[in-house]
Amino acid sequence: MEEKCLNIESKVVHGHSMFDPLTGAITTPIYQSATFRHPGLYETTGYDYSRLQNPTREELEKTIASLENGKHGFAFSSGMAAITTLIKLFNPGEHIILSDDLYGGTYRICEEIYKRYGLEFEYVDTSSIDNLKAAIKSNTKGAFIETPTNPMMKVTDIREASKICKESGVLLIIDNTFLTPYFQRPLELGADVVVHSATKYLGGHNDTLCGLAVVNNDELAEEIKLIHKSEGAVVSPFDCYLIIRGIKTLAVRLERHEENAKLVAEFLKNHESVDKIYYTGDTDNPYYDVMKKQSSGFGAMISFTVKKVETVEKVLKSVKLITFAESLGGVESLITYPVVQTHGAIPEEIRNAIGVTDKLLRLSVGIENVNDIISDLNQALI
Ligand SMILES: *Cc1c(COP(=O)(O)O)cnc(C)c1O
Repeated sequence: MEEKCLNIESKVVHGHSMFDPLTGAITTPIYQSATFRHPGLYETTGYDYSRLQNPTREELEKTIASLENGKHGFAFSSGMAAITTLIKLFNPGEHIILSDDLYGGTYRICEEIYKRYGLEFEYVDTSSIDNLKAAIKSNTKGAFIETPTNPMMKVTDIREASKICKESGVLLIIDNTFLTPYFQRPLELGADVVVHSATKYLGGHNDTLCGLAVVNNDELAEEIKLIHKSEGAVVSPFDCYLIIRGIKTLAVRLERHEENAKLVAEFLKNHESVDKIYYTGDTDNPYYDVMKKQSSGFGAMISFTVKKVETVEKVLKSVKLITFAESLGGVESLITYPVVQTHGAIPEEIRNAIGVTDKLLRLSVGIENVNDIISDLNQALI
């Protein structure tokens, strides 16, 4: 069957190949081999050495490309390995715009590592397109945007951003970790690159690290491929297998995640200890309308502030079903304290300016029974 005609609920289940072409195995085999026999001089089976390509990884790469409706997929050993590779597309002296609210690890790699190599980074609130426009300079070559952002859930209009980036020759990279191609497909909206921490929703089970990237442009794909195979931040065949397996249930998981998140958001919004919620699916959220235009769902990430700072410690200590742990996007509900965890690397004045304060908590709503999640929050918040 032509893969392109299928709806995403079918694509996630069957992946790119639907079965192993060699054996008919329904599940993609784990080709746990570092190297491959050459049939003869100058001959190859298509696989030579697993840093370059491996059949299990290739299936994952083609699957994510198909889900994002893109041409070329790449699988990395972590989300950060994928992001690092993308940063290496730029040259010393070039200026890159990034979301001002973004995953702490991305901020750290730019500020503490890549600045040393002469790249210029600027953090901009791109939820206002005028800000993005104003930040573009003659040496601006890239824009790395998270939407929704982590953890403040700010949303950028991808179509508008892509128009401006195209006019100025700026490569637009979208970190789509929070929504996945099930809810949002940035390449269809005009982005040049979509990147994921597949550790999160795509894997979905908090058991594997993986990063994925997809592009349409052939030349760009060649550049990424060169860095990918030369540096070797590739994901192992076993981890590819786990991500492929996770992706099979992406559609049903995300439906349940979102259904739960809507109810949890409503509960939090009305709770007396809670000051403010940041959830794009809340009709009062300032980004609700942009989300409606570019995404088919809101995901299941909710940040919220509590009125008293003491409540934070109480909640983190008292949750029972919900686990106090870093990360997000798995079937288990997790709660994090961004100021000391994911965003610890960001200086205090910047954190305060964007709203990552000591009263902010971030919840990744899992797929447990929603009443159990709400009861747990209720006993922990009081
Ligand atoms: C987790 C995360 C990353 C980093 O991915 P790893 O798989 O942990 O390396 C990047 N961006 C976002 C939005 C994330 O949540």
